[in-house]
Amino acid sequence: MISSSNCIFCLIASGQAPANCVHEDATTLAFMDVAPASDGHLLVIPRSHHESILDVDDGAITDVARAVQKMARAVQKALTPDGMRVSQFNGRAAGQTVFHYHVHVVPIRAGERPASHGRAAGDPDRIEAIAARIRASL
Ligand code: AMP
Ligand code: ZN
Repeated sequence: MISSSNCIFCLIASGQAPANCVHEDATTLAFMDVAPASDGHLLVIPRSHHESILDVDDGAITDVARAVQKMARAVQKALTPDGMRVSQFNGRAAGQTVFHYHVHVVPIRAGERPASHGRAAGDPDRIEAIAARIRASL
């Protein structure tokens, strides 16, 4: 397993840093974003460390894509948003701040503009209440 000791998402994947995890399997992890763009914003990562889409390997990118669809379906069932943004940032210039490949799943409600991700910490109790609904919908 490729891992980086100074990468926060590697630390989450190995259980050395906390996260509000909603799903995990042998190769991927899904957890709630700490500074969400909307209620229900979660991240899907491969367990193995790859900086961006440029170096993520075939297995990891496929496993993450499958996990993203699984999580999007769970979010749809749990929260019934009007739409969902699935996005991914590569390189500082594109807005990437955590250099471990990851995909954002951001529920969108009609008439509501999502906030910028990664700016303001969400309320942990509110995030946990939403996470519990997503877990129950898997
Ligand atoms: P980006 O690199 O622009 O795709 O964004 C990284 C995302 O990771 C931001 O939305 C952050 O709020 C989120 N984030 C950073 N650290 C953590 C963490 N420890 N647990 C959950 N989300 C995190
Ligand atoms: Zn990493």
